[in-house]
Amino acid sequence: MAENQINSLLMKLIHALFKSGLPVVAAGCLFNPLLCRAAEETPTKPGYSTDPTDQEACQRQLNVIYGAIQEYQRRNQRLPRWLSELTPDFIHDPETLICPFVKKTGNLKKWREDYVMIPVFGDSASSYAYEFCTVPIQGLPSKTIRDYKRLQMEVMGFGVPIVRCFAHRPVLNLAFDGTIYESPPEWEDNFVNSAEDRDLSRRTPEYRRSCI
Ligand SMILES: [Zn+2]
Repeated sequence: MAENQINSLLMKLIHALFKSGLPVVAAGCLFNPLLCRAAEETPTKPGYSTDPTDQEACQRQLNVIYGAIQEYQRRNQRLPRWLSELTPDFIHDPETLICPFVKKTGNLKKWREDYVMIPVFGDSASSYAYEFCTVPIQGLPSKTIRDYKRLQMEVMGFGVPIVRCFAHRPVLNLAFDGTIYESPPEWEDNFVNSAEDRDLSRRTPEYRRSCI
């Protein structure tokens, strides 16, 4: 399939799902099935915090990361492949790539166990999900997750997250425009028009199938 045909196919998919208020996340789950599972399971020992103090500490770090990404992009004319590329030149302390709550648990490796199979968590030096990584989409090897996110941004604007922290509930999202907002594990829910749409989206067989 030609490049522009694949792009147009992805765009159609994103438009169709977004316009209908149906689950854009379903498309996400196609190449990210474990994200759904991680979101639905209730861990016996929560790997996340609901404490606002932890959230504030993480937000401060996300702001530092955002500044570093901007600077990296300015100097290199591209985004980093992984957040760990920001150290040491753009972020001096590598621990900045680990959420303060995860640091408190004392074991990044253990915390990452629930997420390690998910492509956006491919950076072993970080606890954050990097949504603009260049991992190929499963079943569509000529396209990367970054390509998909760029197309998603054309439809949904700069609220598309670039970095996410799953060590909190609600999940923290650092958007492409630098704003930080809370969301459910499926951030697209914030962009769905109504609770009815969301309920409907959760009931559709397509959604269920894609999350298996
Ligand atoms: Zn965090």
